[in-house]
Amino acid sequence: MSTESQMLIDAVVPAGEPWMGVVPKGHRFRIVDLEGNQAVDTLFYNAADTHEHYSAQNTIQAQGNLYLGAGSVLRSNRGRAMLSIIADTCGRHDTLGGACSAESNTVRYALDKRHMHSCRDSFLLALALRDDGLCKRDLPSNINFFMNVPVTPAGGLTFADGISAAGRHVDLVAHMDILVLISNCPQLNNPCNAYNPTPVRVQSWIAA
Ligand SMILES: [Zn+2]
Repeated sequence: MSTESQMLIDAVVPAGEPWMGVVPKGHRFRIVDLEGNQAVDTLFYNAADTHEHYSAQNTIQAQGNLYLGAGSVLRSNRGRAMLSIIADTCGRHDTLGGACSAESNTVRYALDKRHMHSCRDSFLLALALRDDGLCKRDLPSNINFFMNVPVTPAGGLTFADGISAAGRHVDLVAHMDILVLISNCPQLNNPCNAYNPTPVRVQSWIAA
């Protein structure tokens, strides 16, 4: 762990809120699940060229595994290594479940859930506030850190109870300057947040 003076980012993302920041090449990026079982919907972009972004398909194909954990290399839509997961005290992160939205809340749950906060709306709000040209078309499939979406033997997806806990964290190292977009998931209708969205902490410092 670094000293305070080397800390580039140290922020608490409140329950249900979005966050954006830039992690320079060679820096570590840590996400801490402060209270446990909180899904952190995350997208990564090449900060120098945001047309390059995290690709679930290329990442899964290259590592030959559906789940993300220590040793996973997160690849871009151009097949390049963007970040690597170098430490992980949770052990399971989802790359298939996608982001909740007004539409999915309506289809999965009920019409009267349509107005509820969603990750897709949080992503769009953060991009609009940043105002650097990124918009709806720049939202590919995201990572859900700390979210447990096991695949059944028949190939089904299940949104299962989380396996994370208070204080668990994931550490990544950036292989290029990375723009990070997070929706600290506000979902109340499935167990991805244990029905109780909570804050997370993000930190970045120079990798040793
Ligand atoms: Zn969500």
